[in-house]
Amino acid sequence: MTNKTTMYWEKDADQTALNGKTVAVVGYGSQGRAHAMNLRDSGVDVVVALRKGGKTWTQAENDGFSPKTPEEAAKVADVVCLLCPDMAQAKVYAEAVAPNLKPGSTLMFAHGFNVHYKQIQPDAKTDVVMIAPKGPGALVRRQYEEGRGVPCLVAVFQDATGNAFKTALAYAHAIGGTRAGVIETTFAEETETDLFGEQAVLCGGATELVAAGFQTLVDAGYKPEVAYFECLHELKLIVDLIYEGGFARMHEFVSETAKFGDLTRGPRIVDEHVRAKMKEVLTEIQDGTFAREWIDENKGPRTRYNELLKKDLEQPIEAVGKRMRDNMSWLQESQNAPAKNAQTQTAVEKFAAIKPAPKPAQGQSEHAGGCCGGSATEAKEEAEREPATTASGRFAREIW
Ligand code: NAD
Ligand code: MG
Repeated sequence: MTNKTTMYWEKDADQTALNGKTVAVVGYGSQGRAHAMNLRDSGVDVVVALRKGGKTWTQAENDGFSPKTPEEAAKVADVVCLLCPDMAQAKVYAEAVAPNLKPGSTLMFAHGFNVHYKQIQPDAKTDVVMIAPKGPGALVRRQYEEGRGVPCLVAVFQDATGNAFKTALAYAHAIGGTRAGVIETTFAEETETDLFGEQAVLCGGATELVAAGFQTLVDAGYKPEVAYFECLHELKLIVDLIYEGGFARMHEFVSETAKFGDLTRGPRIVDEHVRAKMKEVLTEIQDGTFAREWIDENKGPRTRYNELLKKDLEQPIEAVGKRMRDNMSWLQESQNAPAKNAQTQTAVEKFAAIKPAPKPAQGQSEHAGGCCGGSATEAKEEAEREPATTASGRFAREIW
């Protein structure tokens, strides 16, 4: 595992490594669409590969591509980037890609799961690399169009030709990644940290913390709407501040009381027991227990997964949240966008986008919008005058 961090930028990449090569992008979802469009705009010869009649086939056509089947695409490609869902990749690789891949080709991934857990074992003549953008596809596309990029991870699993790394970095360059910095890693490190992050902190940890906090307040007799604001809604404001400037920036904006509570109570919530559980979850990732469980689940109709998902969405906080969010005018636009295309916004951008909430209809909660009023123009002007500090500072102070 690499402990020294190496980063690569525009000057380190040589996009001519892709000259005369054809890149097949298999899958046209969140990442696939963004990669295919960015590669094409960077002058790379791209072919989009999809199942005939799949639901994104028409979308690819509307974007000006002429999709081929994965079999056809693999035959003409020098680089095949597997961007169909992780649980579909092994089958697509075995049935369509492997039998048609030219010797000396590059097999590329955006996540290391299948290679790391040996669901895909390419032959020794193939370069196996990864470029994993650290953001959703819509952001990869939007940043590219704006002349920026999303940071990526780069890893080489197998270097058959001696050019694997060069090809990977050229690809990162073409999708805009080197504009934002590309960090070198391994398939093992990317896979294990990615799974741990989503399980312990980002998806699993965060939602359970929110739901447990909400339930504690509701069980103690507080109004669900108030509990929702305290435990879920305001989390975004805190996360935006941490994202922009770490814990230090968050500390700049919360009250002294909030800070004292954070420092003395936080470690009692995430205590030794929680840390031990985190280690347990990490061990299950490292020894393959989690991967086996998830692969087995996908062999059948995913009964357990679907049951858990249903239960998760039936929690009281989901019903309260839906009611509350219906009153938040500034959320309507993003709620109508497909979740896969959700883009991250900074606290400043979000604040600038906020419009005064409409007066709640009779009988509806008065809480929504209450803390976040302020005209869009006013906020935008203020954000422009004194960027981050003023806008998120005021936003934060209105809460505490
Ligand atoms: P997605 O679910 O958004 O899109 C999947 C695409 O693959 C769709 O176009 C679908 O029609 C197509 N597809 C499904 N089955 C197929 C098959 N059998 N043959 C050909 N095409 C098929 O996928 P995604 O979220 O973009 O994930 C793609 C890869 O990128 C995964 O390895 C994932 O781990 C990785 N990744 C995703 C994100 C993200 O933000 N979504 C971020 C980093 C890395
Ligand atoms: Mg959960």
